Amino acid sequence: MDFVRLYQRVLRELGSERRLGWTLALANVALASAQFAEPILFGRIIDALTMIQADKNNAVLTTLIVLLAAWAGFGLFSILCGTLVALHADRLAHRRRQAVLTDYFEHVLQLPLAYHSGTHSGRLMKVMLQGTDSLWAMWLGFFREHMSAFISLLVLLPLSLFLNWRLALLLVVLCAGFALLAILLVRKTDKMQSAVERHYSDLAERASDTLGNIALVQSYARIEAEVSGLRSVAERLLAAQIPVLSWWALATVLTRAGTTITILCIIIIGTWLSLQGLATIGEMVTFMNFAVMVIGRMESTIGFVNRMVWDAPRLREFFEVLDTRPSLRDRPDSIDPGRAVGEVAFSNVSFSYDGRMPAVAELNFTAKPGEMIALVGPTGAGKSTSLALLHRAFDPQSGSIKIDGVDLPELKLGALRRNIGVVFQETLLFNRSIADNLHAGKPDATEEEMRSAAQRAQALDFIERAPDGFQSRVGERGRMLSGGERQRLSIARALLKDPPILILDEATSALDATTEAKVLAALDEVMKNRTTFVIAHRLATVRKATRILVFENGRIIESGSFDELFARGGAFAALARAQFMTADAAAE
Ligand code: ADP
Repeated sequence: MDFVRLYQRVLRELGSERRLGWTLALANVALASAQFAEPILFGRIIDALTMIQADKNNAVLTTLIVLLAAWAGFGLFSILCGTLVALHADRLAHRRRQAVLTDYFEHVLQLPLAYHSGTHSGRLMKVMLQGTDSLWAMWLGFFREHMSAFISLLVLLPLSLFLNWRLALLLVVLCAGFALLAILLVRKTDKMQSAVERHYSDLAERASDTLGNIALVQSYARIEAEVSGLRSVAERLLAAQIPVLSWWALATVLTRAGTTITILCIIIIGTWLSLQGLATIGEMVTFMNFAVMVIGRMESTIGFVNRMVWDAPRLREFFEVLDTRPSLRDRPDSIDPGRAVGEVAFSNVSFSYDGRMPAVAELNFTAKPGEMIALVGPTGAGKSTSLALLHRAFDPQSGSIKIDGVDLPELKLGALRRNIGVVFQETLLFNRSIADNLHAGKPDATEEEMRSAAQRAQALDFIERAPDGFQSRVGERGRMLSGGERQRLSIARALLKDPPILILDEATSALDATTEAKVLAALDEVMKNRTTFVIAHRLATVRKATRILVFENGRIIESGSFDELFARGGAFAALARAQFMTADAAAE
């Protein structure tokens, strides 16, 4: 996105408040125009004073008083309007920043899991905070400076030509010099600054990744290694940043030198002109003031270009995320049939993550309402992927999945996900209170409902033992709870949601015997009266299953009840002997 289009986009993000934004910018232009009057008045006053000194003329004295009154009037107008613009500009920019930030957040939450698997949350966070900061700064600049600087230059330059074309030519040359400098700097530094920004994103990603795995970092004594990892990213960042800084330092030097030389030339030429009688002292003073204003505007324009080079990569990253379309979107004709009965049918379903290697292929199976289907097979066989397709974390490339006879894309995404509960193996909890986490299952759950769900999930005892009961915080990702407690809490959450279809990824991590018994009892409770899909790791679970689907290399190679499959003596029988029986024997 080039600068002009990027800037237009920044202004479009003012959304419904765009009109107020433009009003403020135009008001500021009016203010800047009022300021043109000052040098003209100043020049006139000096000429009037010179005349009074020469012949004590009373008529000139009246003119002088009028001129002074006019100046006071303009001054007051500027102060009043300036205050109003400043107040509104800040409020508007802050309001819009929060609105855009919230929109970004909502948008990112809707992006598919596939997107999140490839993009670290730390990066998304950094893009959100810095992108909205940059937008805020750009908007403020637009209300307060950009327009007035631009329009001032457009007005001041021709006006100075009109005042004294010889001196004005110097200003024109200076402006042309500044414009060339700005173009050169943008060419030189835009790409470099984008590279710097990528390093900033790497830095944010790395830092948040380390912080998110703090237990690992500490237990593996990785503090030094992680710090030095971060330091090396910071060093790369600095190495990329320094050349940009050098270019801009050069720009500052050139700007300063250019303005000083121009002012000196104006004084020298001006003195010569007034000695020749080609300009009055008042005209000289007016012109000097003009020159200072033009130079000030040009400096702020260069400052704006600098800021733009600095912010453009952040803004581009921000808009890139904002423009990423969720691959799964509700079709206009999608329906919300309410609570499903719970029949699930996969027919010829194939899916590949990378478009080449199939993760699952030609899946065919049906689950009747209330049945319990166990998915077994080695890791990487495609069990999680098939269930991810069921709650539309991804869409299959071919085949169809139906719930109660309705194709998944025909259902509203919200409706689909309300009907499916997922209990993940790696328990996901918010860093909020236990009650808040349970409310994720049912936002309007009463205290009584929460207690009953917690009790059925064997979670009530530890919740009541916690210092603040249901109001106790669970820590980041539930770190303040034990593994078994986290699982029971997530089961209680699923019970509150009470979906007709449940996806369960059985935990493989070893729990102590009492905790395991509690978790299993909780699982039995949550599976009652629902169509349940379990990625099973235990003999007890597969035995109970209505049907077992045996996965290998993304395909279902056997399917049937435990006894049928065991009797068949095929892949499942071997797997059961090797995996479940030994695992369960060990657990006993
Ligand atoms: P299982 O649940 O049986 O262990 P998965 O469904 O997780 O198997 O994996 C099936 C295949 O898909 C594996 O080859 C795995 O490497 C691949 N896979 C799983 N998740 C992803 C992902 N997010 N991106 C790319 N490939 C994936």
